[in-house]
Amino acid sequence: MTDYYEILGVQRDATPEQIKKAYRKLARELHPDVAGEAGEERFKDVARAYEVLSNADKRQQYDMGVDPTAPGGGAGGGFGNGFGFQDIFETFFGGGQPAGPVPRARRGNDALVRLDLDLAEATFGTKRELQVDTAVACSTCGGDGARPGTSARTCDVCHGRGSVQRVARSFLGQVMTTAPCAACGGFGTVIPEPCADCAGEGRVRSRRTVTVNVPAGVDTGTRIKLTAQGEVGPGGGPAGDLYVEIRERAHDTFVRRGDDLHCTLQVPMTAAALGTVLELDTLDGPQEIDLRPGTQPGQVVTLKGLGVGHLHANGRGDLNVHIEVLVPTALDTEQEELLQTLARLRGEERPDPRLSAAHPGVFSRLRDKLSGR
Ligand SMILES: [Zn+2]
Ligand SMILES: [Zn+2]
Repeated sequence: MTDYYEILGVQRDATPEQIKKAYRKLARELHPDVAGEAGEERFKDVARAYEVLSNADKRQQYDMGVDPTAPGGGAGGGFGNGFGFQDIFETFFGGGQPAGPVPRARRGNDALVRLDLDLAEATFGTKRELQVDTAVACSTCGGDGARPGTSARTCDVCHGRGSVQRVARSFLGQVMTTAPCAACGGFGTVIPEPCADCAGEGRVRSRRTVTVNVPAGVDTGTRIKLTAQGEVGPGGGPAGDLYVEIRERAHDTFVRRGDDLHCTLQVPMTAAALGTVLELDTLDGPQEIDLRPGTQPGQVVTLKGLGVGHLHANGRGDLNVHIEVLVPTALDTEQEELLQTLARLRGEERPDPRLSAAHPGVFSRLRDKLSGR
């Protein structure tokens, strides 16, 4: 087992104060500015030793022969005072700090526009022209942000590095920290004469027209991606993507459920009883619908393939026609007599009350009615 007391150079009965003091001294000696990269490995050992010995629980565990930093052993990492081993390590060796200057040209953001479509457009797909407002590359300076005829030059303060080093005091003593250069904003270059049209940004806002090919089967919430049609980035950087989000307008007649369409067709009682052929206006134009004699209320006639096209797939959903049978009202004398004759002929003048357990379909139809489907 690693001897943490030996690494810190303290006695086995050292007080917490002595341990802290020994650690600080070693941390200063092993700082990369002093010891170079050679100090890195030793500092890791020192930090681990301090992590164990500075924590009463871990130190006790270690004294009993268990290394709390070993995988699977101990009570987890951390200094117990809010500092992780990694934090301290990175403070010293600059892990995670960006190396070198930040490029001026960066990728732009994605943009989002909404597009309202009719059901027919969603069903068959369409081609639409859209006005979009996004940042585009500045044509005056070509995106580099410098007035034509001038150019960016190396920053005098950081000499192109984009960052400056500062010495800060901490409980570990003096620590070298790296911060972005304030003079150039971390770019390493400055633009002495910014382009007047974009104020040095390399991009300007502009309204333009883009053409969107909307495939069949899109629905509310579907997003169509137009690659590199979004915002041009700072410094004339590559454009993000443009997303077109579809919103489908409700149709007067047809209700969409997935790729199937539903509608209700009212037919007189006589037509339902005798059967008939009706013409129905669909998205595909007039279609004949064949009602069999004895069609019942709530019956569904399915017109295959007259629904919405499947998105990115062949085929279409169905059009479901829900039949509603209208019982005649306001009968004149002749009609009433005819119906009475019919009732007599069918032995239905005094129908037996026939109760039956409600078919589950009745409830689902009712529920659909109530929820407006
Ligand atoms: Zn410009
Ligand atoms: Zn600078």
